[in-house]
Amino acid sequence: MTLTGHHFIAGREAAPHGHHFHAFNPATSAQLEPAYGDATHAQADEALQAAEAAFDALRLATPETRAALLDAIADEIMALGDALLERAHAECALPMARLTGERGRAIGQCKLFASLIREGSWADARVDHAIPDRQPLPKPDVRRVMMPVGPVVVFGASNFPFAIGVIGTDTVCALAAGCPVVVKGHPAHPGTCEMLGRAVLKALHKVGLPAGCFSLLHGKGNDIGTTLVKHPLTQAVGFTGSLRGGRALMDVAAARPHPIPVYAEMGSVNPVFVLPGALKERASKIAEAYIGSVTMGVGQFCTNPAIVLGLKSDGLQQFISNAAAMATKVAPQTMLHRGICEAYDAGTAVWQTIDGLELAGQSETPPSDTASQAACRIFTTTIDVLEDNSELHREVFGPCSIITQCSTLEDMLRYANNLEGQLTATIHGTVDDLREFAPLVRALEKKVGRIIFNGFPTGIEVCPSMHHGGPYPAASHSFFTSIGTASIYRFVRPVCYQGFPEEALPELLKDSNPRGAMRIVDGELKR
Ligand code: NAP
Repeated sequence: MTLTGHHFIAGREAAPHGHHFHAFNPATSAQLEPAYGDATHAQADEALQAAEAAFDALRLATPETRAALLDAIADEIMALGDALLERAHAECALPMARLTGERGRAIGQCKLFASLIREGSWADARVDHAIPDRQPLPKPDVRRVMMPVGPVVVFGASNFPFAIGVIGTDTVCALAAGCPVVVKGHPAHPGTCEMLGRAVLKALHKVGLPAGCFSLLHGKGNDIGTTLVKHPLTQAVGFTGSLRGGRALMDVAAARPHPIPVYAEMGSVNPVFVLPGALKERASKIAEAYIGSVTMGVGQFCTNPAIVLGLKSDGLQQFISNAAAMATKVAPQTMLHRGICEAYDAGTAVWQTIDGLELAGQSETPPSDTASQAACRIFTTTIDVLEDNSELHREVFGPCSIITQCSTLEDMLRYANNLEGQLTATIHGTVDDLREFAPLVRALEKKVGRIIFNGFPTGIEVCPSMHHGGPYPAASHSFFTSIGTASIYRFVRPVCYQGFPEEALPELLKDSNPRGAMRIVDGELKR
């Protein structure tokens, strides 16, 4: 496929003009063609007007048609073949094996949401039949079901060009729900965005839905993203990226005359508590898995385990020695782009100025500057130093982590109770540990979205019970997840029908329940 640098506005291609930018291969610093340009305010307006115009066609299409769209998107992604993987590899430096796996995840998400909407139970239909002779007042017939909110603006992340990008969960679950989507392409991988955008347009054409259901606008700098969020036709925003970006867009959305929700997933430090029984049993095994998790994807995951806490002991000492030794053997790897690499080096350089924070081990091979490489860096400290330095409570994106020595259980509990909102927390322990440290679990339940026992938070399973979110600042709304089937609830709202005849009700609320979906009927959950 020849890349053009075009924006896609409801099927119309618009050549870039005005301010131009290019993608760069982070491994070689080579500029990649073609040039992309910042979309204009008029183009943002055109995309959202088209999205609004297509809204009825998409939301009133049968679930089969929307499911066929998702299946067709999956087919069109596969039809892009290796060219897609090669472009993403050139733009993001992610290994081909990782990209192949991520493409599989993206396709799996399309299929998962297709089967979700075909089946229908997700829409949480509730039916309360009328009781006309109820005393002292008759009970009306009341029913409710989830309905799409309208045009959704999507910001993909730099670190998942497929699974959290143009055709990632946000886009796929919005389309599944019946919401047209306008994507703001990520400026670090615009060519990948363009290829995926063409796949979505082809899929729309295949199933006969209007091209206005999907637009892709490029841009670098905050202007086009801000314009899209401010636009009066935008009804919700899906965002994955930095706290700074997510918070800025939350503020823009809240300042609109009609505020809208920004569902932002903004990362966290994902504390890991290694309890005494586990250290006694398997300190070196846990250290090995920990280094694997810290360095997976060059540490460029919002679930990276950036802080470890353990009670001072021989076991913890062994854990530190093993982890530090393993860190030295980790080969430096190219990061997603130069900016992320510079932020990583600056962040870990600040850590090295903190009294009482020691660099325990780092990759012995020096990272190449020209290839935007990051060295693995493992630090150690004490709980006092961790608690006294607020800069240690914020994510440094990359393959680094701090192992913290606590003196007592109370130290761990106090840290857990003072945590800011987190996507995850992890406990390594025995069943006896878990019993003894039960207050730690109780404390973490108040602070995090997902608690992992004897595992690591990286490598998120895409499934109905996954929750990828957490209290602010990990995410903007702790109730909602950005991964897994429950992510669809960000882009729908309940509509209640009172006193309607059967024939005028939405399919999922009819007494005949033609789809056989699970519903709450007169207080009872049934098909
Ligand atoms: P980012 O800088 O937050 O950018 C994400 C998207 O939002 C981009 O399209 C960006 O485009 C746009 N954007 C950012 N700030 C904006 C603003 N103030 N107004 C309007 N649009 C804005 O995230 P990133 O590029 O993926 O990575 C940068 C940092 O984010 C990393 O170093 C890491 O700390 C964090 N991160 C977190 C996650 C996560 O999963 N939570 C994932 C990746 C990265 P423009 O800059 O062109 O506006």
